[in-house]
Amino acid sequence: MNVGVKIESTEPDCRNKDDRVILRERGQREVFCGLTGIVWLHRKMQDAFFLVVGSRTCAHLIQSAAGVMIFSEPRFATAILDDRDLAGMADCNEELDRVVAELLGRRPEIRTLFLVGSCPSEVIKLDLDLAARRLSQTHRDRVRVLHYSGSGIETTFTEGEDACLEALVAEAPVSQDDSQRPNLLIVGALPDLVEDQFRRLFAAMGIDAVSFFPGSSASALPVVGSETRVLLAQPFLRRTLQALRRRGARLLPAPFPFGAEGTTAWLQAAADAWGVPAARFEAAVGPARDRAISALERYRCDLDGLSISFLPDSQLEIAMARFLARECGMRPMEVGVPVLDREIQAAELLLLPESVRLAEGQHVDRQLDRVRADAPDMVVCGMGLANPLEAEGQTTKWSIELVFSPVHGYEQAADLAELFVRPLKRRRRLEV
Ligand code: SF4
Repeated sequence: MNVGVKIESTEPDCRNKDDRVILRERGQREVFCGLTGIVWLHRKMQDAFFLVVGSRTCAHLIQSAAGVMIFSEPRFATAILDDRDLAGMADCNEELDRVVAELLGRRPEIRTLFLVGSCPSEVIKLDLDLAARRLSQTHRDRVRVLHYSGSGIETTFTEGEDACLEALVAEAPVSQDDSQRPNLLIVGALPDLVEDQFRRLFAAMGIDAVSFFPGSSASALPVVGSETRVLLAQPFLRRTLQALRRRGARLLPAPFPFGAEGTTAWLQAAADAWGVPAARFEAAVGPARDRAISALERYRCDLDGLSISFLPDSQLEIAMARFLARECGMRPMEVGVPVLDREIQAAELLLLPESVRLAEGQHVDRQLDRVRADAPDMVVCGMGLANPLEAEGQTTKWSIELVFSPVHGYEQAADLAELFVRPLKRRRRLEV
C-alpha cells in the first residue's frame, strides 16, 4: 500500500559541502513500505523465508507486488494479526510459535527465517526481536530466526532491504586473523546473472576474493572484518554499511554501477584498492564497456534533449539522473530522494549536472506543483502518483521497476536506457 504520513512541514534551503543547494521537505509522503523488498530478497536468498507479521493489507501488498512476477513456490507468507490479536485478547507470541512450527514442519529447506515487522505489529508493540531469539532457541540446529521491520511507519520502499541486510550482518562470521589478505564484499541484492557478470570482470582483473551480500544462501555468510573492503551496489544501504563498519570493514567510495560510466568507475574503485595495473584493468573491462557504449547509442536518439524529474521513492534517483544526463543526453530538472546520505552519494553528486534542483524528503503537494510548473517530458515516481499524473498528460515511469529489473552493469546499460524509452513510445501510441 502507499503510505501517507503527515508530519511537520518545513522548507529551508541548505548548502551541501560541494555548495549544491538542497531543498529539504517534510510533509505528506507517497511511497511503498519496506515490505516491498521481500519481492526481490526472497528470490535472491534461496534458503530463506520471510514471514510478515501483519494484517491482511500487508498480505495483499506482498501478493500483488510479487504474484505477477514470480512463478515458483513463494518463500514468503503473512501471519495475519486479526481483531482478537489487535485487541489484545489473544497471546500473539503463542500464535506465532504455532505458525512457525507448522511452517518449518512443512518446509524443511528453510535455513533462515526472517520475522518481518509491519505497521500493525509495531502498533500493538509485539516484540519480534524477542520472538526471533526465542524461536532461534526453540529450533536451534534447524533454522536461524532473525527479525527486521518493514513497517511503513519506519521504512520506505527500499529501506526494507537495508534493514534485512543489517540483521544479516550481525550473523556473519568474524575474521580471526587481521593479517588476512583483503576481501571484496559487494553489498546489495543483485540478480544472479548480474552477479556472474561482475564475478567474471573481477576475476579478469585478478581480484578473486570476492563475495556478494546477500548471496544465494542466507546461511553461508561471508567473513567480515578489518580486511573487508565494501563496494555498495545500491545507494540505500546506509544502516548495513554502518553495521559492516562496526565490524571494521571499509567503504570503497564510488558511483553506482549503472550505465557504462558508472560501472567503469565502480570497478575502478576496486581496481585501485587492489593495485590492478591500468593495462590489465583496460583489458578486463574495455570490451564490455565499449559494447555498452555502443548499445546505448540506439536509445540516445530517443532520449537526447528531453527533460526529466524524479519524485523521491527508491533512493536510486541521483544515480539514474546522472546516468540519463551524462550517457543519454537527458536534462534532469528536479531530483528528489527520500534521504540524502552525503557520504554514500558523494561520488554521484560530483557527476550530477549543476543545474539539477536537488530535494530531500517529501512534501508531495509542493513537489507535484513544481512538476506541473516544470512540465518535464517524463516524471519518475511511485505507482500511486503515476496514474494521476498520466491523467494530467504527463509521461511517467514507475520507479519500482528500477529495483525489480536487472539494470546494473555493462550488459544491462542499454536495457536501463530502454526502460525510460518505453513510456515515451507508449505515450506516442496513445496520442495517435
Ligand atoms: S506494513 Fe504498513 S504500510 Fe506496509 S502494507 Fe502493512 S500496513 Fe501497509
